[in-house]
Amino acid sequence: MENQVIVGVDVGGTAIKMALLSTEGEILTKLEEPTPVAEGEDKVIEKIARMITDILKNANVSNEQVAGVGLGVPGPVDTTTGVVLQAVNLHWTSTPLKEKLERLTGLLVKVENDANCAALGEMWRGAGLGAKNMIMVTLGTGVGGGVILNGKVISGINGVGGEIGHITLNPQGGPPCNCGKTGCLETYASATAIIREGTRLAESGRSPLLADALSKHGQLRAKDVFDAAHAGDEAAIAVIDEAAFYLGLALANLVNVLDPAKIVIGGGVSAAGDFLFSRIRQSFVRFLTFSFLADTCQIVPATLGNDAGVIGAGKLIHEHIAS
Ligand SMILES: [Zn+2]
Repeated sequence: MENQVIVGVDVGGTAIKMALLSTEGEILTKLEEPTPVAEGEDKVIEKIARMITDILKNANVSNEQVAGVGLGVPGPVDTTTGVVLQAVNLHWTSTPLKEKLERLTGLLVKVENDANCAALGEMWRGAGLGAKNMIMVTLGTGVGGGVILNGKVISGINGVGGEIGHITLNPQGGPPCNCGKTGCLETYASATAIIREGTRLAESGRSPLLADALSKHGQLRAKDVFDAAHAGDEAAIAVIDEAAFYLGLALANLVNVLDPAKIVIGGGVSAAGDFLFSRIRQSFVRFLTFSFLADTCQIVPATLGNDAGVIGAGKLIHEHIAS
């Protein structure tokens, strides 16, 4: 196993992020290029293959030294066959990514959902370090999720395991979600949801601070809503309270079932820090079946940022070597 390296890839709708990793998950070098989505899946896969050639060449690494290539993709994956069942942002349906990339590179390829990869990354090298039972939630444009039990990511039989963002929290309605339902966690706790509510406050005149920010920037960022809440704006605080309430409720229900050691919260919104986390904990504790679960399950911020995806993709290969 000496001198071996792993290639970790995070295939997003905007960019292909790639890292050369040691077999212990340390990043050696990185490469990032735009995803040519409009050119079709074959061009994207060819580009990934070319980027692999480039990153290895620049690091003076031969193909024989590569243990394998792990990829995270934005959608459900059949992890056995490496077929991407659907990736809306890539316009892919039933794409045999593993087969095509193995043919192009001659390397071993493993594929997993990107949110699951982020969870694996945080468990291996980040905030989840040492936890074999862990839930990861990513609060960004949407709400991503990954569940790890006994060190294994839960993909389920359709590759959609861990889709925390689409837990229904308001069965009587609630805001419409991208998935077609209403009242999903994502419609309350994503950056998109916080911006939507903040904009509503600004336009209705209920928050002078947000109205100012809206007229200054033309549109709000989630950070504007957090800033207004920080400054004591009651209406903005109510938006954050609502997001934290639903997140705490969803997480408590998951913990009641799964009993993990850690919940890792990542994504842009998590940068709000203790202002958000203390509110999530308040709601979380309220909905736990056993109060001691509040002591055994830590809620912590993610530490790897945008690198979680490539590191977690690399973990797929690390697991393969270990077995
Ligand atoms: Zn949904």
